[in-house]
Amino acid sequence: MPVTLSGIPASPGIVVGPAHLLRWEVPEVPARAIGPHEAEAEVARIHDAFAQAIGRLQEVRERAERQAGPAESAIFDVQISIIEDVELRSRVESVIRQGFAAERAFDVVMIEWREHFARSVHAMMRERVGDLTDVHIRVLTILLGLGDHDPVDLPEGANAILVTHDLTPSLTVQLDRGRIIGIATDAGTRTSHVAILARSLGLPAVVGLLEATTRIESGDQVILDGAAGTLMVRPNAAELAAAAARAQNEKREQVELARLANAEAITLDGVHITLRANVDLPDEAEAAARSGAEGVGLMRTEFLVVGRATMPDEDEQYDAYRKVIEAFGSKPVVIRTFDIGGDKLPVGGFPHEPNPFLGWRAIRMCLDQPAIFKTQLRALLRAAVHGDVRIMLPLIVSSDEVRQARFLLAECAAELAARGEPHRADVPLGIMIETPAAAMIADLLAKDVAFFSIGTNDLVQYTLAVDRGNASLASRYTPLHPAVLRLIARAQQMGAAAGLEVNVCGEMASEPLMAYALIGLGIRQLSVSAISVPLVKRIVRGLHTERAGAVARQALEANTAEMAEQVLRAGLDADRGAQG
Ligand code: PEP
Ligand code: MG
Repeated sequence: MPVTLSGIPASPGIVVGPAHLLRWEVPEVPARAIGPHEAEAEVARIHDAFAQAIGRLQEVRERAERQAGPAESAIFDVQISIIEDVELRSRVESVIRQGFAAERAFDVVMIEWREHFARSVHAMMRERVGDLTDVHIRVLTILLGLGDHDPVDLPEGANAILVTHDLTPSLTVQLDRGRIIGIATDAGTRTSHVAILARSLGLPAVVGLLEATTRIESGDQVILDGAAGTLMVRPNAAELAAAAARAQNEKREQVELARLANAEAITLDGVHITLRANVDLPDEAEAAARSGAEGVGLMRTEFLVVGRATMPDEDEQYDAYRKVIEAFGSKPVVIRTFDIGGDKLPVGGFPHEPNPFLGWRAIRMCLDQPAIFKTQLRALLRAAVHGDVRIMLPLIVSSDEVRQARFLLAECAAELAARGEPHRADVPLGIMIETPAAAMIADLLAKDVAFFSIGTNDLVQYTLAVDRGNASLASRYTPLHPAVLRLIARAQQMGAAAGLEVNVCGEMASEPLMAYALIGLGIRQLSVSAISVPLVKRIVRGLHTERAGAVARQALEANTAEMAEQVLRAGLDADRGAQG
């Protein structure tokens, strides 16, 4: 029977293909006691499983080295050394001798170790929790005979749709990206890292499906519709034909939108709205430039790091930034310093935190790790000689952070000057307004910076206390909540009063109704993923700023997100009606 699962649209496009189910979770371990006479056989079983796991990791490491280089494959050496650890092995053996089957003994010891490492005061130990989890899964999978669902083992020749619980950074590094045509995950929302990455890679994706991994078997044929947010399992011929027709329509629509690439983003009353692109990977830059974007409003540099085991050095970063800058000629390119943390993490090397979105993230991590931060700042100052670069700091909550960053920036400029390296020392420094704190003190922050960019993805989560990545809270994640609208309005007014450019670079900017609201609130710069640029341009060209302004003022007075949405929808419909 065909089944349609509904999730959250994450990246548009309709694809049909076999599902590749990847279960990368610690499996349930059945309780099985053993008698004393069975202990030696169980010890032999665990050693055999260790040997198989090491063999598998060696293969994975070689593949990762071929695909991504030696730095990326280093995490697998760490995992091999965990399995070879003498203390671990003797502890598992001793639990087996207390009367537990090999899988149970290994499970118990790994739970103990993961807890112990997670609570350690030493960052080095906390950083190993992810590797311990991967080893935990890999060895148990072998012991329980669950079949190895390694991410690299995609069916030969098949263009598969990856179905998994969540796409973590450690999976991303193992992924055979060339053979994946779509992504479906149980977890995640439109603003979680998997969704952002899928849009950047141009891969259709649906997230927040909650139970895709329990309803789908590997090899099942599925239709993934990224714009509708659905995953149809085992479709019949009529459904396949309907999907093909929808895909045709989408293509036609894209061709039509592409015609807007050279049209101006100007409203009906003649107000120019600056439309820029969000770029997450340097390889996207050229396509983003072709989309008609007037520069880059947000380059998320942490994607140079996510899924890798090592930080890129200054030259590698310089090359990456230069590639993006040159793709946009003399147009502005806003490059954000690393927003590492939350759900955007490198492989290993970062502490496991109980509340990562409230934790050691973004500017906090950068200021605490000046060596990492300064390497990036130097690369940015060097790349800045190639175009109109602006540097942006994420997750700001106080002027102190700006002051410290500016101090380090000056140090970097002096170091480059001493090295005789071409660079620009006068790069404008701006900030993300993505915490309620920053929006509330926007008047004070405006004195210290050259521009604001409102990050609504985080602003919504921190204002409403709703985890942006939690699929089961998705209906409570309401960007049109009057509290959010008021904070945006405040940041816009304070920025404009100080003569600053105020941009919005969160996902809100690419939703038609929300873009209407933002323009109504006075925003004149939007930055959206490259695929959304023509779509938003079409919205802009159908708007009247004064009418949108009047409607947005009413939305600010609404009691609830739902009421604000009604007000805005009625305003937008009336405007459309007025245009005939
Ligand atoms: C945001 O928070 O809105 C934003 C643009 O940054 P990110 O999605 O990378 O956190
Ligand atoms: Mg953010």
